[in-house]
Amino acid sequence: NKFEQLGLNESLLMAIKDLGFENPSEVQEKAIPLLLEQNTDIVALAQTGTGKTAAFGFPLIQKIDANNRNTQALILSPTRELCLQITNEIKQYSKYVKGLNTVAVYGGASITEQAREVKRGAQIIVATPGRMQDMINRGLVNITQLEFCILDEADEMLNMGFYEDIVSILSTTPDEKNTWLFSATMPQEVARIAKEFMRTPQEITV
Ligand code: AMP
Repeated sequence: NKFEQLGLNESLLMAIKDLGFENPSEVQEKAIPLLLEQNTDIVALAQTGTGKTAAFGFPLIQKIDANNRNTQALILSPTRELCLQITNEIKQYSKYVKGLNTVAVYGGASITEQAREVKRGAQIIVATPGRMQDMINRGLVNITQLEFCILDEADEMLNMGFYEDIVSILSTTPDEKNTWLFSATMPQEVARIAKEFMRTPQEITV
């Protein structure tokens, strides 16, 4: 099993076996060892369907301290559907990691209920930018201890008009964190986000 050679731990390998993944996809082969070994920012040009959720999800799960209840990772995604899909995948990937909680935060559903779930302890929050900004404004989330910020489908988020929210959210996060940006295309606005908020990102193309 080629996943074993990427440096993933036993709980992830067990989950991967349950899912029936036989070989890593190209973006997984490129991103996983890099993200596991280095504290680096990355810009990855990858389309949907390439396995990018696992490409950032596996290293993220392995690097998070499940014994610490602080929110350590924020994954921003453009839509509620994608947000729920990513949450579902992360939950499957982390099923053997005791104490690791992932919570979805998105518009069009009760903010009170989402805040309650976050308060119970969410090391990973998967959010749409508008609702996340709302939660921050109302003091319903604490992201002062954030270590990882993932921008998924960055080009789509910007197409949908989330530039201001993203900039505002990123400005609230600690400087000492790693940002992993995934995008199918690299329009100027995405490049601008990378330039302003990332530190010499390594590039991955598939
Ligand atoms: P994504 O590009 O992250 O949306 O993933 C697309 C689909 O491929 C998802 O349903 C994943 O569960 C699945 N997938 C991800 N990685 C692999 C893999 N290495 N082998 C087989 N299926 C995978």
